[in-house]
Amino acid sequence: MKTEYVFLTEETAENSGEIRRAGEIIKSGGLVAFPTETVYGLGGDALNPASSAKIYAAKGRPSDNPLIVHIADLKDAEFIAEDIPDAFFKLADALWPGPLTMIVKKSGAVPYETTGGLDTVAIRFPSNRIAQALIRAGGGFIAAPSANRSGRPSPTMAQYCREDLDGLVEMIIDGGQVGIGVESTIVDLTEGEPTLLRPGYVTPGMLKEILGGLSVDPTIYGNETSARPKAPGMRYRHYAPSGELTIVEGSTENVVSYINEAVLEAKKAGKKTGVICAEETAPLYGADRVFITGKRGDEEAAARELFRILRMSDDEHLEVIYAEAFGSEGLGLALMNRMIKAAGHRIVRV
Ligand code: AMP
Ligand code: MG
Repeated sequence: MKTEYVFLTEETAENSGEIRRAGEIIKSGGLVAFPTETVYGLGGDALNPASSAKIYAAKGRPSDNPLIVHIADLKDAEFIAEDIPDAFFKLADALWPGPLTMIVKKSGAVPYETTGGLDTVAIRFPSNRIAQALIRAGGGFIAAPSANRSGRPSPTMAQYCREDLDGLVEMIIDGGQVGIGVESTIVDLTEGEPTLLRPGYVTPGMLKEILGGLSVDPTIYGNETSARPKAPGMRYRHYAPSGELTIVEGSTENVVSYINEAVLEAKKAGKKTGVICAEETAPLYGADRVFITGKRGDEEAAARELFRILRMSDDEHLEVIYAEAFGSEGLGLALMNRMIKAAGHRIVRV
């Protein structure tokens, strides 16, 4: 298949010919990669089982890993969900449109092909206006996982969708680099107390303030490998660069000296080395490649850059990579969750 590329901005998307064409592709069962505020999504008609099957095939993703259904009007949630709890409307009121996905009981309108066989459905109302325009043009319900081949970092720019999906989807919409850079926060509202299944830009603190209480699935801290994650997708290895990534946590001084020794040793063994670090410590490292996530403590910048850095480390064939750890509060929790997965749980405390 020949993939069509189009460029749109949030200002020009609505009512454009490109969006109309993209909507037609979705409605006729095809796939369109498109920007959202979190990462690029690989969209198909959520109510069409054949579209969901195509998404799984294009991604190379196991079909028991459920897809998130994207809507562009809160009222549409009632068509795809049943027994919606108050917490859903409270969170929607405060945080939608935005980077939050909520899991509720599904209605008969949603095929099991979209939910990976589950009786529940994950719903998100994105704030990106290109995404909203596409959802409306495509019939209102777009199933979309991240627009990467399974196991690669989520794409934060259209060129990465092209790298992974050229020839596998009808259209890729280039809307520039995304603003957030890590996937949406996921909250399960189907059993007892709302439970955080995946950390993201919406932090546990923000959710607690709105809901009063919140349980946190312990597996999101990344270090309890024996527990079975509740969110099906959390079982799968993710975002792994082809080099060996290790996260180093501790005081700045200890981290810098540990990484420098480890880099020196790897270089002696003939390995190509990389370091992922803050701007302030970057000049202290002697690796072949030093990636800067932003100023120390600027977690928003780090979120925007992380997946791009992981892709670049593959492009540059780095074999041994060390990364400074982030704090585990606020957005740091989401960053550490993604990094620990990328590192296959290799984390050193010094
Ligand atoms: P993404 O990888 O960004 O496409 O997000 C999809 C992830 O959302 C899945 O891997 C699951 O972890 C989660 N998810 C989607 N639907 C459900 C559901 N019905 N129940 C639990 N988790 C879900
Ligand atoms: Mg993904």
